[in-house]
Amino acid sequence: MLGTRPFEEPPERGDLRDMVGSLLARELPPDRALALDRAGLFAAEAWAALGAAGLLGLGGAESAGGTGGTAGDAVAVTEEIARVLPGLAVDYVTCGMAMRMLGHDGGAAAAARGWLPRIASGEMICSFGMSEPDVGTDLLNLRTSARVEDGRWVLRGQKLWISLAHKAGIVFVLCRTDPPEEKRRSRGLSVLAVPLDQPGVTVNRVHLAGMRAAGTCEIYFDDAVAPLDHLVGERGRGMALLAQTLDVERVLAAGISLGIGRAALDLHLAHLREREAFGGPIGRFQALQHAAADSLADLSASRALVNTAVRAIEDGRPATALTAMAKLVAGESTARIVDRGMRAMAAHGLAEESAMQMYFRDARLQLFSPVSNDMIRNILGESLGLPRSY
Ligand SMILES: Cc1cc2nc3c(=O)[nH]c(=O)nc-3n(C[C@H](O)[C@H](O)[C@H](O)COP(=O)(O)OP(=O)(O)OC[C@H]3O[C@@H](n4cnc5c(N)ncnc54)[C@H](O)[C@@H]3O)c2cc1C
Repeated sequence: MLGTRPFEEPPERGDLRDMVGSLLARELPPDRALALDRAGLFAAEAWAALGAAGLLGLGGAESAGGTGGTAGDAVAVTEEIARVLPGLAVDYVTCGMAMRMLGHDGGAAAAARGWLPRIASGEMICSFGMSEPDVGTDLLNLRTSARVEDGRWVLRGQKLWISLAHKAGIVFVLCRTDPPEEKRRSRGLSVLAVPLDQPGVTVNRVHLAGMRAAGTCEIYFDDAVAPLDHLVGERGRGMALLAQTLDVERVLAAGISLGIGRAALDLHLAHLREREAFGGPIGRFQALQHAAADSLADLSASRALVNTAVRAIEDGRPATALTAMAKLVAGESTARIVDRGMRAMAAHGLAEESAMQMYFRDARLQLFSPVSNDMIRNILGESLGLPRSY
């Protein structure tokens, strides 16, 4: 019988999934996950357990205190977390991006500052501050800036929608440190690691209808300071630094989509078997079987594309178009899968006790973050040799 669990992967990957599944069943049972989502709370115990199991360090250079692993491992762990609590998976992806970014020089500088092992163990939490009130997709237009004054960085500006900043010790801020070069707006942007516990920083929670457990925040920098050696990578080349992690970021985002889609389809199928109408289970109605079949096909097609993209990354082949398609297809498929699940569950899907309503709300993020699916389509348009549209 076909199921929703991936059927074509190495046994070690299956073992990794089982390990994450049992860790979460212990630390974050479904009722607890729903309660955290409802209250908009961070799953601190589960995070600590992920750190203790070495899972927060995935993607980080082992020589610098990370736990290594492949992109495929990281996607599988992300999917398993998203099945239980998608908001926590958003935070997990942020941590994974930090692991990879800090490893740009083999992790040497991050190791010297002791960040990587502390983030990997869960002792130190970090955030990524790129989006601002007036810029999301058009990131190169950002306004937050930093200057050197009295031998340290001084920052002014605002970041918005920043995951987990209320719990973080540092935020990696993309900001303008130097003027843009003519026709190269990306030049002059740098990544600075800014301590959040200081008078020049204010962090407020913002409350969303989806991904509530991710802990979304706004951050104000009002002459906030950071030591000079908190520059990550080269001055003025922050976009190039972040670009190195983009392929993995997209497949991890697709991993969140797979997790939400798989969990929603499992709930959908259980409801088709259990709910009765007109003298038998509603799953005997052909219209409802077709919807579930479409969802299984959507999920499996997304997974195949994600696997192809992951293999390209792992083999060191050009992966941009593949990771873009994986992110796009998995996100759009998941939006359809949760919609079909909600239709089949009718009132029961809207009930607060049902995780289906959480998946339905959380799946919205997969259409526009960390990069909007329209921008992904722009990238694919260019890959097809068509002129840049923006
Ligand atoms: C739960 C959550 C967590 C987040 N976490 C973080 C985080 O940790 N760090 C962080 O920096 N950000 C974070 N974000 C922000 C996220 O990355 C942005 O929402 C995303 O980049 C899109 O930006 P925007 O929302 O400003 O949309 P906009 O950029 O304003 O886009 C609006 C619409 O215009 C379309 N559009 C824009 N430009 C083009 C174009 N050239 N061609 C075609 N269509 C276009 C978009 O597709 C979209 O439909 C988070 C957001 C949420 C909701």
